[in-house]
Amino acid sequence: MNTKDRNAQLVSISTTAEWDVIIIGGGATGLGCAVDAASRGLKTLLLEQSDFAKGTSSRSTKLVHGGVRYLAAGDVQLVYEALRERGLMLQNAPHLVKKQAFVIPCYSSFEKIKYVVGLKLYDWLAGKFSFGPSIILSKNKAKLALKGVNSDRLKGGVEYLDGQFDDARLALNLAQTAIEQGATVLNYVSVCDLEKTDGLLSGVVAQDNETGKKYSLKAKAVINATGVFVDNILDMDKPGSKPLVKPSQGVHIVLDRSFMPSESALMIPETSDGRVLFAVPWHNHLVVGTTDTPIDSHNLEPIALQEEVDFILQTAGEYLDRKPQKEDVLSVFAGLRPLAAPTKETGKTKEISRSHKIILSKTGLITITGGKWTTYRKMAEDSINQVLKQTNLGFRKCVTKNLAIHGSTHVKNADHFDYYGSDATRLKEMLNENPAFQILLHPKFPYLTGEVVWAVKNEMARTIEDILARRLRVLFLDAQAALDMAPVVANLIQTELGLSEDMKNKQLQNFNTLASRYLLETNK
Ligand SMILES: Cc1cc2nc3c(=O)[nH]c(=O)nc-3n(C[C@H](O)[C@H](O)[C@H](O)COP(=O)(O)OP(=O)(O)OC[C@H]3O[C@@H](n4cnc5c(N)ncnc54)[C@H](O)[C@@H]3O)c2cc1C
Repeated sequence: MNTKDRNAQLVSISTTAEWDVIIIGGGATGLGCAVDAASRGLKTLLLEQSDFAKGTSSRSTKLVHGGVRYLAAGDVQLVYEALRERGLMLQNAPHLVKKQAFVIPCYSSFEKIKYVVGLKLYDWLAGKFSFGPSIILSKNKAKLALKGVNSDRLKGGVEYLDGQFDDARLALNLAQTAIEQGATVLNYVSVCDLEKTDGLLSGVVAQDNETGKKYSLKAKAVINATGVFVDNILDMDKPGSKPLVKPSQGVHIVLDRSFMPSESALMIPETSDGRVLFAVPWHNHLVVGTTDTPIDSHNLEPIALQEEVDFILQTAGEYLDRKPQKEDVLSVFAGLRPLAAPTKETGKTKEISRSHKIILSKTGLITITGGKWTTYRKMAEDSINQVLKQTNLGFRKCVTKNLAIHGSTHVKNADHFDYYGSDATRLKEMLNENPAFQILLHPKFPYLTGEVVWAVKNEMARTIEDILARRLRVLFLDAQAALDMAPVVANLIQTELGLSEDMKNKQLQNFNTLASRYLLETNK
């Protein structure tokens, strides 16, 4: 996939008379639908208004999990389904998904028994997809597994295995897989209206956000996979529709790895607001979160509330030897959970089910909402089954259970190129061709100038933000480092995309404004 392909794909959207299915939204859900539809042989188009995973799908806790806390809440069916999907994600994208040990610190023998019993049930539910048994750790073993965690009152711990991944890179690899399966997949194209014939949905009006050009596109079926934006599309379908989604904001802070230098992640099973809090090693940093704050409005760049950051710092400080302060926060990011709104108003989003829902509109619009990153494949399978049910396309079996995702490989070299999976070989060849590609972008990160060029040529990156937020994950890891890198990245993009000086400067200005929101006020 390269930039020429984007142009080729734009040509294909104006020359295709009718699509079997148009998918609106390029997050985990929409991209999963595109892979599923294309691999069943459907003529598939996916349109994303911004970059792939710009929304919630780049802002997760990075867990591929059944959801231990949903088990505690009694949602066995959801956990069972998610554990199967966890296993399939590891199988199909082993370059981005890995097993991760989590340790729950215990302060009494009762706690050890309580957590290990629950986690044995978790292991049992995983069946053949189990990642390995949960075990009780002695005080010494727990101390070793949780370096950096205060061990004063510690009596031991319980260790269990779950999965961890790079969310935005998996989204990108899903886009690449969908294209390889025959789909047309475009970022920076918005759906701005729906078209109907005799009261039934017959297509969409889309706009290329780079050129402003509009397209009228016909389709047998349209899927609304727009996360917290689903109600906007439902409103295009039927103005004044009752909202389906109740967004809930989750915030993470990122700290230096030295706060918890262990390989294991910390799982705090019960915070003062009755949630769980994770501290997870990720890309050589420590991601700590999250919160669950009901929110009434939504946009692509939600802002962390002061009290959410305070809560995370306070809770982490109760467990870590070195209490993190505001000045230690390298980056802060917020995401919105597209939770299906409950029929009864409870006010507490942690009580809203995380199961996905498919809603059918009278016009034929298929809306998919709720769920988790981990269950994206099953959500897609259910959505495309619905497409086949309501069109004349005939039954076609879903094949994604065993479909390798772009980049899939078990070969690892324990360097940052592992995240490119099987693309790493071609990338390294490209880097070796030109010494100008081998310059470090920043002393704190291993990323090289050539990786920017690669991302523009091969990964549909269009902006500084696409590169620093979602191809290389620097903005999420260390916002100041991302700001430092931006001018060099801007020059590289300018050359690759042939941008004018004005366009480059505008990109730089936009990125600087955006990146400063990932820094806490005290760190600016
Ligand atoms: C804080 C937090 C932590 C989480 N942690 C985990 C975790 O560890 N593990 C896990 O499994 N799940 C986790 N989740 C859940 C998971 O991230 C989400 O369920 C998933 O990312 C939702 O994906 P989506 O595609 O439905 O939505 P999104 O990723 O938001 O994608 C929707 C896309 O639609 C696009 N769009 C909207 N309107 C239009 C339009 N008109 N035209 C074109 N495109 C449009 C948007 O730009 C957006 O990119 C977490 C969620 C949050 C908020």
